Amino acid sequence: MSASSERSDPGKLIDALAAIVGPDAIVTDAETLATYGMDLFYQGAAPTVAIEPASVDDIASAIQVACEEGFAIIPRGAGLSYSAGTLGDGRPSVLVETRRLNRVLEINTEDLYVRVECGATWKQLDDALRPSGLRTPFWGTGSGLHATVGSGLSYNVVNYGSARYGAVADSVLGLTVVLADGSQLRTGPSPAPDQPPFNRYYGPDLAGLFLGDSGAFGVKAEAVLRLIPRAAATGYAAFSFPSREAFAAAIAKVGRSGLTSECFGFDPYFLSERIVSTGFADDVRKLLGVASGQGSVLKGLKEALVVAAAGRRYAEGVGYTLHMTVDGRDAKDADSALGHVRDFCTSEGGEEIEASIPKIMRGTPFPPPAMIFGPKGESWVPVHCMLPHSRHLAALESVDRYMDEHAALIDQHGITWGQVSMLIGQNTTLVEINLYWQDERTAAQTRYLEDSFLNALPVYDANPAARAAVGELRRGLADVFAEQGAAHIQIGRLFPLMESRDPRSQALLKSIKHQLDPRGLMNPGVGGL
Ligand SMILES: Cc1cc2nc3c(=O)[nH]c(=O)nc-3n(C[C@H](O)[C@H](O)[C@H](O)COP(=O)(O)OP(=O)(O)OC[C@H]3O[C@@H](n4cnc5c(N)ncnc54)[C@H](O)[C@@H]3O)c2cc1C
Repeated sequence: MSASSERSDPGKLIDALAAIVGPDAIVTDAETLATYGMDLFYQGAAPTVAIEPASVDDIASAIQVACEEGFAIIPRGAGLSYSAGTLGDGRPSVLVETRRLNRVLEINTEDLYVRVECGATWKQLDDALRPSGLRTPFWGTGSGLHATVGSGLSYNVVNYGSARYGAVADSVLGLTVVLADGSQLRTGPSPAPDQPPFNRYYGPDLAGLFLGDSGAFGVKAEAVLRLIPRAAATGYAAFSFPSREAFAAAIAKVGRSGLTSECFGFDPYFLSERIVSTGFADDVRKLLGVASGQGSVLKGLKEALVVAAAGRRYAEGVGYTLHMTVDGRDAKDADSALGHVRDFCTSEGGEEIEASIPKIMRGTPFPPPAMIFGPKGESWVPVHCMLPHSRHLAALESVDRYMDEHAALIDQHGITWGQVSMLIGQNTTLVEINLYWQDERTAAQTRYLEDSFLNALPVYDANPAARAAVGELRRGLADVFAEQGAAHIQIGRLFPLMESRDPRSQALLKSIKHQLDPRGLMNPGVGGL
């Protein structure tokens, strides 16, 4: 703490921050700060000031000054999340926008690691690694055109590579974290900067402490991630199942085998309404409009358009479906894995359908974030849980029961919903319930989308009652999942991390928070910390 425990006036702090990060890296205009006060679902308080530092040392100096003056710190990547993790709680705060800290520092092809600054996007990292023929095991989120590595580590995100390699935390070797006093903590076998972590473990897992913390313990500045060879051959398969029971049995078999890199399941509503009803090809055409001028994205989308030529016919008559990607060392390896996957699906009564969806996802892994809106321009927000395969079906049934009990609320506000399941490693299934309702667009939703895309969608009046109803359903579903002992990623201020810990674990987490951030200024309130 500084000489004074009182907060200084913002003007004095802004001058001090400007001296560190430069006047061009300070945001004080009310409109932009108001946007920083919201995420894709929640509206919070605007920060007092935002900074856009471009070096780890600048972040450290800025955090030291801000915390000495009693300001809270809010780390932020792209702001493409919906668990209130980037929102201020009303106290004076400095938002640390990390996206200028985006260099890929080292690609080590001998010891198989990459060192990257935490403001880099998943796409920037993937583009940098591609020429080396290597990739990280987990290699990005669907939002990875803008979403950053650092926020992914703080939310322990899942998607590309997750069916085989788990969440992003499973790809981490080490971290450099800036703490609330401005000091830098390095995890890994050696603290020496010239000896990057080749292995995560030397005693207790200190890197793990910061993974999934929603930024409560510090601002991640650098990460060292494992590298593996890129696949020499990739295969795709998709199946439709006669019942939800058969679908759940098949995804568990596929999961336990560890053979797929990505495996997604959709309920009929999600597939027909979200993906196909407005025309699969139309969706892709819309994305093409959004992506104009973005070379590689544009090329990928054009390829996807060819794949999508089957259009509406694609999903006629399909029920619960699985969409899978396998990676192999060569074509024989990929074919062999695909053969096993097909056997698992047919043994549960699955019928093979065209594998357009996984091909589109791999062709355009980082599209513009068009799915922020539903196909009819509705607002969208998901809520998820992670469970073992054995409890997947029961979770889907309890969601049905909960939604039936709330049918009046759902009908009253015209809320629609669809379910996605996905594999995370060999023993976990993630269930995501996607909710849609008609509402006014917010600046947080439209920020990364071009007018040509937005103008083609219907617009709606502000609908705070429907938004509140969706919030109630989300919290209610989170309670349903908690009763089942579910785990969560993207904790933010939504999921009850502390409440679901035993008393000793709660006390441990609180004392760690106090040790790292004695005044409780680092993203206060996330994770209940
Ligand atoms: C179109 C779309 C697709 C998506 N696809 C996926 C998906 O495939 N998989 C998935 O898991 N999620 C997905 N998401 C959810 C979301 O994008 C991810 O959670 C993503 O990681 C958010 O990234 P961001 O940079 O926008 O994070 P932000 O919203 O900026 O931050 C998220 C959290 O991380 C913290 N944080 C940010 N940077 C740092 C840092 N350097 N140090 C410490 N804490 C930090 C913030 O304080 C906050 O708590 C998707 C969202 C959208 C809109």
